[in-house]
Amino acid sequence: MSFIVCKFGGSSVADSAMFQQVARILKKDPSRRYIVLSAPGKRDSRDKKITDLLYRCHAVRHNPTDFEAEYSRVRERFLEIARAFSLESHMEQWLAESQPLLLSDADSAASRGEYLCARLFAEFASLPFVDAKELICFDEGGQLDEEASYSAIRKALSNLPFAVIPGFYGAMPDGRLRTLKRGGSDVTGALVARAMGADLYENWTDVDGVLTADPKLFPDAVPVTRISYAQMGLLSRLGASVLHPDSIKPLFDACIPTRVRNTRRPLAPGTLITTESGVSAPCVSGTTGLSMLRAYAPAEACLNKLMGKVPLEGIFSAYDRTDLIVRTSELSVMQHALSGINCTPPRGVAVIAAVWNGRPRLADTLCRLLSGLISGIQHTQSGCLLLLTGEETYLEVLTRLRNEIRGMPSPSDAAFPHAFPYETPENVPSMPTPMKIIG
Ligand code: ASP
Repeated sequence: MSFIVCKFGGSSVADSAMFQQVARILKKDPSRRYIVLSAPGKRDSRDKKITDLLYRCHAVRHNPTDFEAEYSRVRERFLEIARAFSLESHMEQWLAESQPLLLSDADSAASRGEYLCARLFAEFASLPFVDAKELICFDEGGQLDEEASYSAIRKALSNLPFAVIPGFYGAMPDGRLRTLKRGGSDVTGALVARAMGADLYENWTDVDGVLTADPKLFPDAVPVTRISYAQMGLLSRLGASVLHPDSIKPLFDACIPTRVRNTRRPLAPGTLITTESGVSAPCVSGTTGLSMLRAYAPAEACLNKLMGKVPLEGIFSAYDRTDLIVRTSELSVMQHALSGINCTPPRGVAVIAAVWNGRPRLADTLCRLLSGLISGIQHTQSGCLLLLTGEETYLEVLTRLRNEIRGMPSPSDAAFPHAFPYETPENVPSMPTPMKIIG
């Protein structure tokens, strides 16, 4: 019988009314069997996410007055939700059990947001609770162990028709708790969906799906009805926060269709992500906070030195020089790894992606149109275009690019190749293929 794994994000479980809304969504379709939950998120723009409050608690753990002040905010948030369902005494007990973990390491402290939320929701909805520490496995070095996680998930869930599972964390072999990256509940959901062979993975959030652009910059952005995994992978690596980039590969590998949906508007169709279809309307996204080093050496020489040490966000190459792009936080590691190769001083850059289907020749048109504003360009197999620009020209390039592609029709799916851009051999850092340096 077909079944669905659903993940509900922080805004979907932010208060008791949202808990009820999630319960309504589950009731509507009993094939929604495994439910992964984030920690309660912001209720309005001035509010704080529970996860951020928990990190604060941990940071001030040596100062009892500050700790009490931060902890009381966490406590009150959870008690307020529990009170609505007459589960206050249960929550008091779970909070008391959790408190020692807030005083140990940061990962254990942060994990309690998801733990307490899922515990409470399971009790409220009368569904079994399964602790993520039994399901999501990390190795001794703290890296996610996907294969071990798949076996653990199958072992724990095979005989359970329904389960509520906290997202975001798991355990190391010695039992210590370990979190995924921020926003990692999407990854928990994807791992559960893949391990159990779900027919559909639903990622419930607070927007109507994957949008054609960042709505904070472009308020007229609209949701797309479909997009391919490869295109989604690129958008989420470049700032589209609707789905965690690390969640896409497990879903792509097992070809599990994924639907991004709005918890507040469950009748909206959302966005369907599959191997079969390209994007239904052109999208743009981009990110700043990147640094570029221009190395005077061919791409291969640089990659040999960087292999496995630094996750590259992009590589634009010409015959004898290579522009290497990393998150600024990784810059010093990259500089160290490249010692011996002559490099220019680092500079802040932005990478922008346009995702649509086909028309590779548009790259030439855009090169002309944006000349002087971009320093690198690449057309990928999956119908995406990547542009390298400076931090100061980011918004202008993004806006011009959007204006250029927004009205374009989507050609038929058949014309569209579906390569997954981040599939790389083991131990090779995940990176796009080299792109052309302009000028
Ligand atoms: N609660 C965690 C965070 O805020 C994980 C998640 O929401 O997926 O990052």
